[in-house]
Amino acid sequence: MSIRNWFALSGVALLCLCSAYPAQAEWIYREQSIMGTRCAVELWSEDRERAEQAIESVFADMRRIDALMSTWKSDTQLAEVNRLAAQQPVVVSQELFDLLGVALEYSRDTAGAFDITYASVGYLYDFRQHVHPDPQQIRAALPGINFRYVVLDPATRSIRYTRAGTRIDLGGIAKGHAVDRGIELLRQAGFTRAMVNSGGDTRIIGDRFGKPWIVGVRDPDKESVSFLRIPLTDAAISTSGDYERYFDEGGQRFHHIIDPATGDSARTVRSATVIGATALRTDALSTSVFVLGPERGLELVERLKDVDAVIVTPAGKVLYSSGLAPPEAGADRSTTGQSKPTN
Ligand code: ADP
Ligand code: MG
Repeated sequence: MSIRNWFALSGVALLCLCSAYPAQAEWIYREQSIMGTRCAVELWSEDRERAEQAIESVFADMRRIDALMSTWKSDTQLAEVNRLAAQQPVVVSQELFDLLGVALEYSRDTAGAFDITYASVGYLYDFRQHVHPDPQQIRAALPGINFRYVVLDPATRSIRYTRAGTRIDLGGIAKGHAVDRGIELLRQAGFTRAMVNSGGDTRIIGDRFGKPWIVGVRDPDKESVSFLRIPLTDAAISTSGDYERYFDEGGQRFHHIIDPATGDSARTVRSATVIGATALRTDALSTSVFVLGPERGLELVERLKDVDAVIVTPAGKVLYSSGLAPPEAGADRSTTGQSKPTN
């Protein structure tokens, strides 16, 4: 064979070889600002155009959920509920109705630590403007907090409040719901390796070709430092921290996670991370564990069995649930581990 023929033949062989493989197989990462936070999607794509479309559909769905459930905007279904539900039942979409039902279940499961009616006092805070209610305002609004004042009627798909002054906010659960929806959309489109994230809530399907995805848990005091890197496949992880929306005043931090018992920011935890199967569950439970505090929070996680948790205390201690506890010399692996955060 002449040299020229050999080149021609090997060129054909190379072409055949290339066409047997996807043209643009690659990891694609995109992020957008939605629901007042940074949202991101990463996936393994064998077709750039289809991947871009799928990612856009996830972001579009997040915008749809925000337009339905935000309390920052006055034209959402949830804002309408807050305006009217103390006077009359308000019919809502099936999706919102179902999410409200789930939120009430978490209230029952956490003895009221997770309570969407926290907003009866919560609306008096404005973290951007450094505004918090004074003790008198809290005293006046606190009786509005109680998830039992929210009554759902499946027959009419309506919600009503049995007490004037009660308000709700789904900030502790809506992002987890949006992340689960995003994963479902990607799955339906045929993607098998993907990550969807919204603020502190992340869910992952598949692995990274034999390796797990790595999700960092940040140091509460340093945004760019992860004190822990958790390997995950087919799992969800949420972190609630006192550094997301806050301001400091008189040596005290006022932040967005409110103890329904006091109407004040919960201050016995700096961050609570929960790992589980769905982002809806880890989102609700990370907020719950934060409010419950280290001891009762870990008790809840151990009782539930399908989730694990990492808690950073105000003293900087890191507490692990039994499924994550690092083995200590001579210690039983089922005991709760404690160690200092490292940089
Ligand atoms: P994010 O990911 O938004 O930082 P979290 O999952 O920790 O947040 O939830 C915090 C949000 O949950 C708050 O911004 C507020 O909307 C809502 N929230 C605050 N306190 C409670 C509570 N006790 N129960 C339920 N939701 C709460
Ligand atoms: Mg949460």
